[in-house]
Amino acid sequence: TEILRLTDVGKSYGNVHALRGVSLTVRQGEITCVLGDNGAGKSTLIKIIAGLHQHSEGVVMVNGEEIHFSSPRESLDRGIATVYQDLALAPLMSVWRNFFMGAEIRRGLLRSLDVSAMKRIAGEELLRMGIDIPDMDRPVGGLSGGQRQCIAIARAVYFGAKVLILDEPTAALGVKQSGVVLKYVARARDAGLGVVFITHNPHHAYLVGNHFVILNRGLVSLDASRSEVGLEQ
Ligand code: ADP
Ligand code: ADP
Repeated sequence: TEILRLTDVGKSYGNVHALRGVSLTVRQGEITCVLGDNGAGKSTLIKIIAGLHQHSEGVVMVNGEEIHFSSPRESLDRGIATVYQDLALAPLMSVWRNFFMGAEIRRGLLRSLDVSAMKRIAGEELLRMGIDIPDMDRPVGGLSGGQRQCIAIARAVYFGAKVLILDEPTAALGVKQSGVVLKYVARARDAGLGVVFITHNPHHAYLVGNHFVILNRGLVSLDASRSEVGLEQ
């Protein structure tokens, strides 16, 4: 099922055309990889979907309904969670506090949980996706970059995201940590989420992507499925 669709979306900053005629579709249970060099328009695309910028042309649809997000809150309320490279985690705060940070703004989903319940839930949610952090009181800053990415993603999934927008989640990571994150992203996909995976690493895209979109100076230069680019299903 289709969750998010952009049709002929354009965005200009003064006379810079950051995006022109961009169309792409995100389906439930699929990872759409968006590849492109610096300046291709990847950040602009994220900002439109995340409600930080408004598109100047075209149509953005969520679950078949046209939307014009005017704030990140509206995007989040539609089930779109964006995980930025800086992750918005507080390094000195514990794993469980980071997991529940901002929970009250996430559609009031934070029920009257006590601390031990929050620790248990955070630990279970991470473990369920294959991330074993035995001590929920550890400050997030002491964990690996891959584990931090996974915490930010797990938090979004737990609080009801239907679409995950991942901004270069493996860019700052080594081979092993990238593997941890890619496996985790694939699990989120297999749990039924639609994922937009922004990267400039084609290898990472090929490892997990169901669909590939290449942006080139604001234009879509490739839009293809796995089989169309010659990869096995
Ligand atoms: P990417 O994330 O792929 O590097 P961006 O979306 O950041 O691409 O940028 C696409 C183009 O738009 C670039 O030419 C960039 O300089 C320009 N651009 C991005 N943001 C702004 C802005 N706020 N004002 C003016 N130009 C911008
Ligand atoms: P990113 O890693 O997100 O692509 P950038 O360094 O490209 O970071 O951009 C940082 C911020 O500056 C973004 O908000 C982007 O929209 C804005 N920006 C990028 N290019 C320009 C530009 N030419 N003029 C003004 N703002 C820009």
